[in-house]
Amino acid sequence: MNIVSVTIYRKDLPLADAFEHSSSGSITSLEEIFLKVEDEDGIAGFGEVRGNCQYVTGDTPNRLVGVLSDALAPALLGCDPLALGRVHEIMDGAVTGNTGAKSAVDMAIHDLLGKALGVPAYVLLGGKNHDELMTDVSIPFCPPEEAYDRTRRHIDDGFRLIKIRVGLRPFQQDVERVEAIRRAVDDHPGGREVSLAADANQAWSVKEAITNIRQLTPHGLLWVEQPVASGDIHGLRDVTQRVDVPIMADESCGTPEDVLRLVSMRAADMLHLKICKAGGLNRIRTMMSIAEAAGVPYMIGQMDEGMLATAAAVHCAAASTGEHFELWGYHRVALQPISGLRAEHGRMFVPDDPGLGVRVHEECLEMVEEFHL
Ligand SMILES: [Mg+2]
Repeated sequence: MNIVSVTIYRKDLPLADAFEHSSSGSITSLEEIFLKVEDEDGIAGFGEVRGNCQYVTGDTPNRLVGVLSDALAPALLGCDPLALGRVHEIMDGAVTGNTGAKSAVDMAIHDLLGKALGVPAYVLLGGKNHDELMTDVSIPFCPPEEAYDRTRRHIDDGFRLIKIRVGLRPFQQDVERVEAIRRAVDDHPGGREVSLAADANQAWSVKEAITNIRQLTPHGLLWVEQPVASGDIHGLRDVTQRVDVPIMADESCGTPEDVLRLVSMRAADMLHLKICKAGGLNRIRTMMSIAEAAGVPYMIGQMDEGMLATAAAVHCAAASTGEHFELWGYHRVALQPISGLRAEHGRMFVPDDPGLGVRVHEECLEMVEEFHL
């Protein structure tokens, strides 16, 4: 079942609901790269990765296409998908870093392997722990009145965990937005079941983080995510040790090596794992195992991406022992070139079809380059 062809596609997915947080700038469209790998029996697997992700992985659409086309696609031809560990060695030998491009390849191979073996991808990750996954939903930077209305709508729609983007200057703007959201939760008849969290996306210095988080603490946050710069692990540890609210590492927690460093330094109380930062589903499996061994809770999330990348994250989440999930970003996309993932009332259903369990409408994608053995 060796790989005989690799095809690279692009597709911009305009958002029905544009968003902005501390590090993203305004995002109006997801500039996605798709990948198809096909084996000699004609079985195809698909992967997806976000192109305009310069603020997390350093990727741009052209960089991803360049790395896939110059290094990874040619190296994949002739590889055996059953030897996934060897495929990763070959990818790491072809180009260092570039977890985004490698995650698209790894995702496509999990899809292909699942289809070839007749099992859903979560089986390849150790088996299913969850049939359904309650996902959080994010409230972006917006005026307090809008934040109040969005919160009410999200609770009406069934969400029970709402994540608030913070990190504006002056900080008073964040305070007013968090107060409005807390008020909306308390005013709502279903509000007692709703939890709040916040994400600063690296916006603060260590001192600002400690002061600001202490000011937000009375609003009852389940966690505050990535208060300081991703590379400042000592600073992250200082914040974690000096506030009562649990601190979650996201941008600081890209790879298995990062998980090892964070848990051994006790630099964060919780971890946020995403496929594109990790370099693939099997790297996420490793990260989950380290966190589980260390007794550190983690969340399986994703960037705002299309439905294929979301399906891959859903399979990782299904195989996890995690309690929190962030799998809703694809709902902002106005028109999907993928179908098959089912969600309702803030709840994602885990697909049981072989592979990633979704259907890619290839005719909607724009082909960039094809490689054949
Ligand atoms: Mg985050």
